[in-house]
Amino acid sequence: MSEVLNAFTVDLEDWYQGLEIGPEAWGGFDDRLRVGSDRLLRLLDAASVQATFFVLGYAAERAPDLIREIEDRGHEIGTHGYAHRLVYQLDPQEFKRDIERSLETLSGIVSGPIRAHRAPFFSITKQSEWAFDVLAECGIECDSSVFPVQNYRYGIADAPRWRYQVRPGLTEFPLSTYRLRGRNIPVGGGAYFRIFPYTLTRYALRAINDEGGAAVFYIHPWELDPDHPQLDLPRRISLTHYWNLAATERRLERLLADFRFGSLGRVLGYENGIH
Ligand SMILES: [Zn+2]
Repeated sequence: MSEVLNAFTVDLEDWYQGLEIGPEAWGGFDDRLRVGSDRLLRLLDAASVQATFFVLGYAAERAPDLIREIEDRGHEIGTHGYAHRLVYQLDPQEFKRDIERSLETLSGIVSGPIRAHRAPFFSITKQSEWAFDVLAECGIECDSSVFPVQNYRYGIADAPRWRYQVRPGLTEFPLSTYRLRGRNIPVGGGAYFRIFPYTLTRYALRAINDEGGAAVFYIHPWELDPDHPQLDLPRRISLTHYWNLAATERRLERLLADFRFGSLGRVLGYENGIH
């Protein structure tokens, strides 16, 4: 096992919130947040890993007991915003209102301070770099939203691959990529974790650790719930969302055995005072 401590992060949202369906339609779907979350919490407990959970405010309002339980188990609570809107489709005032609403919701549920943020769909791009100013104003100390790749939905292709100071008091911890022939290959979790063979993920994360850097891994509870409903969606969305969900749990077990993981607070050293 490599000695490098990597960050394990969870975007805590229900299955229908990761499908580019607007919040006005969410009321019609079955809540299944517990199903994947319980499996994930069991795996993390078994590996003695404390992670960072970026909790969606809307989901927290519906499952406050789950969020309290996550904090009680020693995990760090961060924010994933309130309504899962793409940041580059908002203006700075709308984004600020969404962040403030999520912070109010979360601080009514958990006891620790909220210091970390991840944007829905990694949607801090060149168009929405003003989001860093808003996050700094809201007291966020660590953001992990920039994916240094080019994707139809997100990405800043030429962003740094390693953590950097993006505003005074605000560190950006970009999603992990493997450098191959001058290009950044996304290897940090989610659909990439399910699509690529596990051995490739392991190889790439080891290479990142050998370069001396901590990797950031991310996963969603619905990725451990292969039985959640299948909706008729545009192919580019449904393919990545539903691909190989049945493999996630077993692969996570291997990942947690092969690498050292902790929360962002622990990796970056700002956790003192949280627990
Ligand atoms: Zn999300």
